[in-house]
Amino acid sequence: MSTTAPPKDITIVGGGIIGCSTAYYLTRHPVYSPTTHRITLLEASSNSAGGRTADSIQDPATLADPTTASKKNLAHDGIAGGASGKAGGLLALWAFPQNIVPLSFKLHDELAKEHGGDKRWGYRRCWASQVDCKARLPPGFGGKSGDGAADPVSAMGDGASKGLHKDHKKDSKALKRLGAPDDLDWLDTKESLGGYENMGTPDNTAQVHPELFTRSMAQLAEEKGVKIVTGARVTAINKSADGKSVESVTYEKDGQEATHQPTTDCIVAAGPWTRRLLPEVPVTAARAHSVVIQTPKPVSAYALFTAIALPTGFPTPTPQKARGTAAAQTPLKKQQVVEPEIYARPDGTAYACGPTDNVVELPATTADVEVDVARCDDIVYQVGGISDELGRDGKVLARQACYLPQGGPFIGEVGGTRGLVVAAGHTCWGIQNAPGTGKLVSEIVLEGMARSAKLGGCDPARVL
Ligand SMILES: Cc1cc2nc3c(=O)[nH]c(=O)nc-3n(C[C@H](O)[C@H](O)[C@H](O)COP(=O)(O)OP(=O)(O)OC[C@H]3O[C@@H](n4cnc5c(N)ncnc54)[C@H](O)[C@@H]3O)c2cc1C
Repeated sequence: MSTTAPPKDITIVGGGIIGCSTAYYLTRHPVYSPTTHRITLLEASSNSAGGRTADSIQDPATLADPTTASKKNLAHDGIAGGASGKAGGLLALWAFPQNIVPLSFKLHDELAKEHGGDKRWGYRRCWASQVDCKARLPPGFGGKSGDGAADPVSAMGDGASKGLHKDHKKDSKALKRLGAPDDLDWLDTKESLGGYENMGTPDNTAQVHPELFTRSMAQLAEEKGVKIVTGARVTAINKSADGKSVESVTYEKDGQEATHQPTTDCIVAAGPWTRRLLPEVPVTAARAHSVVIQTPKPVSAYALFTAIALPTGFPTPTPQKARGTAAAQTPLKKQQVVEPEIYARPDGTAYACGPTDNVVELPATTADVEVDVARCDDIVYQVGGISDELGRDGKVLARQACYLPQGGPFIGEVGGTRGLVVAAGHTCWGIQNAPGTGKLVSEIVLEGMARSAKLGGCDPARVL
């Protein structure tokens, strides 16, 4: 590999985890030089508050230790405003697609070691498990559930909060019988747990706080020369007259149109918005809701893929096609199974997400994402029905929504146009696969080809 490279003007579209990781790895590539390479990252949103209810905590960094909190860079509010700031953050060697997963899992580990990721973005090894549970009724939903489980509130009586907690004290015998580990002590094993299966161990599973990771990638890239512009929504990628190469990028900022010229290389990392710039790349979008709950004390490091049976009388989950419905408050007439995912985090919180929906079309930017509070409440009720730490004793810090990019991942040149690269459509493993994607894109742009892993099915050529 040559140690010098021709001058390049590289524009990255999108300040999610893929765009920011790409910016980071471009600046760490052996041929990168801030004097010959101008790198600009354009992010459409200028704040990250969109997609969260007004009463939600807006800066998760404040929950972690004070040194982490100080990492917040106000100038870059808008970075990680979409799925990259509202995902679970699970990393796994057993994720997909397998051609890039091992590279990216390894890079996550290296990044954490190099930059203190344990403190800075909550990196740690963890367990992943599948649990079958039966929910208890939440407060205010009847004295008895349809299948005979006692209503915890009716059963409580005055000052019984402690007693109830004792009543639900995790029974290590029951855990063992089910094959569940002793330290999964924040799940109600006595009444709720029906089955446990291990999916991942700390050898092959880890986690990050995705918003803090993404912001850190942005900051670390900026320190090496990347210019970050937020509130800049790209409206067109302009090509040469013969259509064979990229020439410039047009964007809107503060109501004005501007052109970023020249642009020799344009990397489209616009997540679920990618198709609006590259209609030929089949990335689709689905909305997903999630909540962040502060637990009375940090809970042990598990990611739980649940199947929770809701008894009759439980608040009815919002129907798939309903918009902002009050149906969540109506008691269920017959049992229903739901599958929220729960991720314990080292900052004293747990994150939980629900199913996707297509009720509200993808808006213009992350700042305009509509949150359906009823869908967030569904998740709160459901996870609270199997854990007092998440329910009765927990405090909901954030109710939020974002759009999951689907269809890919697509990583590579977009047919026939020199300098036009896509990195998008990462499905439910975009946090896991971001460093690998960033590294591969840096190689494609600065060396002409991906070297660290085979693009395989990620190569857009397979669909274009
Ligand atoms: C509920 C949920 C849980 C998840 N959990 C996990 C998990 O545990 N582990 C995991 O690996 N993955 C997880 N994911 C998936 C992961 O969040 C995504 O794959 C990843 O965040 C996608 O990153 P991105 O940068 O491509 O997209 P985004 O985060 O959507 O970022 C795209 C950015 O591009 C900007 N943009 C769009 N259009 C333009 C434009 N025209 N001009 C300028 N900027 C533009 C947007 O404003 C946005 O900031 C989860 C996703 C969801 C929804």
